[in-house]
Amino acid sequence: MSGTAQIGVTGLAVMGRNLARNFARHGYTVAVHNRSYAKTESLVAEHGSDGEFVPAKSMADFVASLERPRKVVIMVKAGGPTDAVIDELVPLLEEGDIVVDAGNAHFPDTIRREAALKKHGLHFVGSGVSGGEEGALNGPSIMPGGTPESYESLGPILEDISAKVDGVPCCTYVGSDGAGHFVKMVHNGIEYADMQLIAEAYDLLRQGLGASAAEIGEIFAQWNTGDLESFLIEITADVLQHVDAETGKAFVDIVLDQAEQKGTGRWTVQNGLDLGVPITGIAEATFARALSGSVPQRAAGRAALPAHAASWEVKDRAAFIEDVRQALYASKVVAYSQGFDQIAAAATEFGWDIDRGAMARIWRGGCIIRARFLNRITEAYERDQDLPLLLADQYFTDAVASGLPAWRRIVAGAAQNGVPTPAFSSSLAYYDGVRAERLPAALVQAQRDFFGAHTYKRVDREGTFHTEWSGDRTEAEA
Ligand code: NAP
Repeated sequence: MSGTAQIGVTGLAVMGRNLARNFARHGYTVAVHNRSYAKTESLVAEHGSDGEFVPAKSMADFVASLERPRKVVIMVKAGGPTDAVIDELVPLLEEGDIVVDAGNAHFPDTIRREAALKKHGLHFVGSGVSGGEEGALNGPSIMPGGTPESYESLGPILEDISAKVDGVPCCTYVGSDGAGHFVKMVHNGIEYADMQLIAEAYDLLRQGLGASAAEIGEIFAQWNTGDLESFLIEITADVLQHVDAETGKAFVDIVLDQAEQKGTGRWTVQNGLDLGVPITGIAEATFARALSGSVPQRAAGRAALPAHAASWEVKDRAAFIEDVRQALYASKVVAYSQGFDQIAAAATEFGWDIDRGAMARIWRGGCIIRARFLNRITEAYERDQDLPLLLADQYFTDAVASGLPAWRRIVAGAAQNGVPTPAFSSSLAYYDGVRAERLPAALVQAQRDFFGAHTYKRVDREGTFHTEWSGDRTEAEA
């Protein structure tokens, strides 16, 4: 017998609770379940007026309360708990039912789970959900993977509860098995890069201008009216203008300067290395957090290492602010360009058909990296869906080129004045590397042939060669 709930949510901590409320507010009857019943009870007691909830104490009752084909959203702690819930669910489900993992799963786990559930005739949809608790309640950006067939019945519901920008849902089918969680992972990696770039811009303004946090907050608020308009710039302006109630100091000055990471940045960088995609912006952002938390090393460095740098003397305040803005925009384009390269490389590696323009479109609302500039990315991929390099789209080429002198001034100034700007600097190095006619990689490959007989190719004819370095140095075709 089948129940009446159109969708079910199991796992009712902050994310699952808000997602369930979002479904209910959109008129769906929502079956709700949590390992410990107290959370289920409190959801219904506190938010029953949001819509129709069907609370269940046991997983069996929960499954029985769903109409067929059942759609079950799992929103529990990622990792072992997700497997535990799946193991409990599977024997209770029937062929054609859909299991959605909306937690932050690592995409290889999603690939494994999808294959396992397919054997039971079940659809497993690994879905990225971004936007934190606020997004879950009022409209997140949703990145579902799995089978196209499952998207036919699930997609309209997810699109319904997702954020909308210009009336367009921030949810679309991403690709098979782990594609949704992969794209969510890269989204989070880009978020790391974006946040680090903003932090470096703040530091440059602080050290270059000697400006207060509140003054810099005003600069960010101003930037938020132009090309840089985004959620992260907006909240940065807000954070910088916030005053600590206890001390009366700028809030940012009472926060310990050690940034944490939950793991998605690390996964993105690890995958970038696996695929051989230079995602330097994301990597530097992740390492910058690691450096911030390297307490003994920082103590030793602070005590022993000289700067041999003068304090920054900025003569033209307005020109410097504009330079930082342009350097930030250019570095941001590089970070996104690299992230989209990573998605393309993974699509090839795992056999996913991912529309990169559509990914930029569903990130325009609901998620942490939502920004005006994502429209430009969608347009670039609409012009050429196989674009090999986002930076090479004419719009971005022109936008970055116009800011290039400023970008170089800022990176050079930071180096001369001893201000660490790993993401700004590495992004510029990537830009110069990817546009170079010839790279010193030729020498690296020659060295590899010298000590390891790794062979090399020549610029002037086909084939693979090795030079007898320890012998008479003749060249032979390998
Ligand atoms: P969470 O703290 O990650 O997890 C708590 C939930 O998991 C509770 O409902 C808990 O049930 C359940 N749980 C833990 N171990 C379990 C087990 N062995 N069996 C069954 N249930 C178990 O919750 P959250 O912050 O709401 O996040 C949920 C998911 O969304 C996570 O995957 C997270 O990474 C992802 N996510 C979170 C955010 C965010 O901003 N928080 C944003 C995007 C995605 P009990 O109540 O019984 O302990």
